[in-house]
Order: sequence, then structure tokens, then C-alpha cells
Amino acid sequence: MRFCDVIGNASVAKMLSSMADSGRVAHAMLLYENEGCGALALALAYVQYLNCSNPSNGDSCGKCPSCNQISKLIHPDVHFVFPVNKGPKSSDEKPTSESYLKYWRELAVADPYFTEADLQRAIGIESKNGLIAVAEAKSIINKLSLASVADGYKAVIFYLPEKMNQETANRLLKMVEEPPEKTVFLFITHAPEKVLQTIFSRCQSVRVMPLSKEEAAQVAALKPERDSEEENVYMDIFSDLMRGIVSRDLMTTLECGESMAALDSREKQKAFCTFASECIRKIFMVQQNLHQISGVGDHEQEFYAEMAKKCPKGFCVKAVANIEKVASMIDRNVNSKILFCDLVNRMFLNI
Ligand SMILES: [Zn+2]
Repeated sequence: MRFCDVIGNASVAKMLSSMADSGRVAHAMLLYENEGCGALALALAYVQYLNCSNPSNGDSCGKCPSCNQISKLIHPDVHFVFPVNKGPKSSDEKPTSESYLKYWRELAVADPYFTEADLQRAIGIESKNGLIAVAEAKSIINKLSLASVADGYKAVIFYLPEKMNQETANRLLKMVEEPPEKTVFLFITHAPEKVLQTIFSRCQSVRVMPLSKEEAAQVAALKPERDSEEENVYMDIFSDLMRGIVSRDLMTTLECGESMAALDSREKQKAFCTFASECIRKIFMVQQNLHQISGVGDHEQEFYAEMAKKCPKGFCVKAVANIEKVASMIDRNVNSKILFCDLVNRMFLNI
């Protein structure tokens, strides 16, 4: 990945290349993004630039052996940490990122803008929470205590440090605070408030900005087809739900809650919540007469116009808050039938 291949966030790319040029490389950085906005792409482009043997005009060459290895995520001095759990794709009793590295590479090379749900699907732990356990810290400390293989920068790209527990953080702390020479930690977070303070306070924080509509479309074009199939299922549930709510049909509304609970993994249930929140925001935008930036497609105009008309002011704000609350509870082993039944009931009452 070269900086010129990163979609959006040109100012962050410029800041990173300037920092590398200045020689004052921060040894720990926290890149904060909304999911899928390119923090990993930026981190990879930065590490590639730091290690390129023939950089020019603020970008890596993309051709030297180091660039070649980093673009395939097989550079011996670039390490990856991401949340994992036990699953059918690894026989390890206490799996670490290493156990799933092959799947991580396949995913990130094909689409560095993947979401957490994509990662869980790729490593086969859709129904579980990914965690960064203490074994991971030990493994990283071992790797970093060895001399660098290629004489450049050693890097640890740490995806979702908010999934790390206190014990893991304690183990890593000294290394993050005083890393070996020419070593960089790049933490990529979607929830900076959940990153343990001990780690957070040692990092230089960088905000990776949300993508514009055009940039998001470029990223979407990289995604495999199956997402749109899933979105069709989500749209069917969502449109039935909204029609049930606005026509005061409680039976249909409750049935939609059951369809949500029947989505066959927590990841899909969370993905549905994200999808439904986006749809509600579209209704909100249409209500505000902001059609141009609502993201409503030509084929959906009629549906959103009808919903914007029939939903009272205030509904959208309450609905998104309710949906986000449910999304945050899915991971907590709550009975999903009760959770979604309660959600649709609240939405029904809010109108
Ligand atoms: Zn190069």
C-alpha cells in the first residue's frame, strides 16, 4: 500500500510522511477512525514508507523488496495484533493473532477497509467476541526483542486495542513506553474511550476522518458482492418494520423483531443495527430537506419520502439511540429475542 493508493485522508497521509521525513518518528501512535475509513491503509502505507529503500516525493516506491513484502503483509519486521478467539479455523487452545495470520493477510490484502465483522467472518469466529489476551503481549515482546531482520523499522500494527484487557496492557506497557530502537507501535481504534488509559496516554493520537460520499463509494467498490445480498435481507426487515410501525400494526412490528433475533450470528445482528441506524438517518435527512446528502438511492426515493412524511419529528433521534443501545448489548449474552422485541416495541411506542 502506497500513500497514493489510500482513499481519502490526504492530510493524515501528508502528516505521516512528513513525520517520517523529519526523522522524529513517534514510537506509539493511536489512529482513531470510524470503522472502515482507512486507518489500516494509512498505517500500512506509513510503515511501507518508513522501510522503503527508494522513497520519493513523500511516498514509497512500491517496487523494492521491502515494499513488495509489506504490500503482501509478509515483511519479517511488521507484526499484526488483532482480536481473536477459539474457533474452527485454528486448533490452538489459546489462539493468538499468529494462529489466524493467513486469514488476516488474505482479508487485508484484498480489502484494507474491512470492518470488524468482516474480520470475525474471515477468521471464523462470527458468533464470539474477539479478544486480545495476555499471550499476545508475550508473543509481541518476544518478536520485538529480536534484532530486526531487514535493518529498517520494526512495526506492530495493533488493530482494536480496546479489545485488550488490563493484564495484556500491563505486560505491553513498558515496551510501548520505551520501545527498542527504530520500533513503532500503531494502534487502530474505533472506540478511543475504551482504550485503557495507560496505553492511550503514551500514544500520539491522530483522527482519521470519515470518508466523503465519493470516497466511501470508492471503498464500497472494493468490497465483495455478498455484502449487498445481506443488505437486501436487512432492507426487507427494516422496510417491513417501518411499514408496521407507521401503519400501527403491532403484530407485523413484533414479527420484525423476531426476524432480527433470528439473524444467525451476533455479527449479523450488529450489522443489522448499523444498517438500520443508517436507514433511520436517511429518513432524518429527508425530513430536513437534505436529499442531496441523504444517501438515498434513486430506487428508494419513494420509501424514504413516505417514511419521512409519516414519522413525527423526534422519532429518528430516539430510534437511533434505541438501536445503538441494543447494538452495544448484543455482545453481553443477552437473550436476543427479548432484546429485539423490546427494541421494536419501543420504536412502535415512540411514534
Ligand atoms: Zn520501496
